[in-house]
Amino acid sequence: MRLRAMAKINLGLDVIRKREDGYHEVRMIMQTIRMYDVLDIRKKQNPGISLSTNLPYVPSDERNLVYKAAKLLMDEFDIKEGLSMRLSKSIPVAAGMAGGSSDAAAAFVGVNRLFRLGLSQEELMERAVRIGADVPYCIMRGTALAEGIGEKLTPLSAMPEGYVLIGKPGINVSTKTAYENLKLDAVEKRPDIDGMIQDIQNKDLYSMTEKMVNVFEPGLMEKYPVIGEIRDFMEERGALKAMMSGSGPTVFGIFDSKEKMNAAVAALRKTGLAKTVFAAGIYNRSEQQ
Ligand code: ATP
Repeated sequence: MRLRAMAKINLGLDVIRKREDGYHEVRMIMQTIRMYDVLDIRKKQNPGISLSTNLPYVPSDERNLVYKAAKLLMDEFDIKEGLSMRLSKSIPVAAGMAGGSSDAAAAFVGVNRLFRLGLSQEELMERAVRIGADVPYCIMRGTALAEGIGEKLTPLSAMPEGYVLIGKPGINVSTKTAYENLKLDAVEKRPDIDGMIQDIQNKDLYSMTEKMVNVFEPGLMEKYPVIGEIRDFMEERGALKAMMSGSGPTVFGIFDSKEKMNAAVAALRKTGLAKTVFAAGIYNRSEQQ
């Protein structure tokens, strides 16, 4: 069985407060894009889980989120058969695109199907939050409002039509670093999440892009100027808005024309500012198989 684990971008990202338990309460608008890892899974004779990946620096043992997700379901349903998985990564790692979370989501969906566990999407999502706050969203996919620690989801209608350019610099930023560089009491600009929801409903790309903000951006941009350089480059080349995704350092630009985006892809590649440059389609829930 072959599954696609798709990446996400955050069209808006606000951090509301730090809770007593140390987790942060967020308000984000999530969007799935057509950039994906491939997860191949099959039953095997011997019991246990085996996993291999195409990247030497991604763990292929119980530290991998794919492994954790599969194990959670296999333990709960006391599955005696073995499971063999191969993960081919294309989504940049530690990049703010929920790569690991999306891989885990694919493992949940795949194991449920392969062993005919009969869990509904909602039942999978309930379990998924134990692996990570973004994993339920990665099961649901599409355009959504995420609140709480990211697990309280409200599906939104599909975002207005546009073209997304991804530019990831050759640095890696952990979520921990992003929070360390966020001064919650000194945040100057926040996204207008409610206004963006209205714009999404009205299919108004121009109005939506004016309201986009990621509160992690200023702190990380100061530390890693290349993030700002990629953002400015995309906007100079016609992006309606370019912004860092999630906890960074990936930058995405939203264009209203495919031609402009394609020209920006070629130009950005030439600069060498970004290690990964990718033109990604927008993925909507209605397309789900
Ligand atoms: P998010 O957008 O949710 O913050 P991210 O892009 O910052 O995600 P990931 O790519 O999901 O981060 O992975 C971050 C770390 O998790 C990596 O350093 C890696 O060691 C570990 N990891 C565990 N499982 C995976 C996986 N399947 N793919 C990538 N990294 C994984």
